[in-house]
Amino acid sequence: MCLFCKIINREIPSNAVAENEEFYAFHDINPKAPVHVLIIPKTHYDSFDDIPSDAMGKMATFMQEVARELGINQSGYRIISNIGEDGGQEVKHLHFHLLGGAKLHWGHLADSDPKDFF
Ligand code: AMP
Repeated sequence: MCLFCKIINREIPSNAVAENEEFYAFHDINPKAPVHVLIIPKTHYDSFDDIPSDAMGKMATFMQEVARELGINQSGYRIISNIGEDGGQEVKHLHFHLLGGAKLHWGHLADSDPKDFF
């Protein structure tokens, strides 16, 4: 069973933010912003590339609700999903990073150029 499936099953502790029958939101253990929450489906999909559109639609609604509950929907936020090897995905269970609570930098992409990657 993968790490996030164990978190859903409460075999590994986590700091809950919101939950319903299909989705779970919890604080990232290594936050990169004042608000850094992970949002996951309770059904295991390896990544964003595998989730069906109907489930993704419900997940989008859940993510909007979480942003509202955290009080960052007006100030703004960023959603990131790393996918596979090139995307830098470490945990192979679909998750969205919900980041906010301050004006976010664009990180290493700010000054990068496509040719820098080769
Ligand atoms: P990614 O690189 O997109 O796969 O992101 C995985 C994220 O999971 C990282 O931001 C980690 O800090 C986070 N993470 C790993 N283990 C835990 C855990 N036990 N509880 C909360 N967040 C975790």
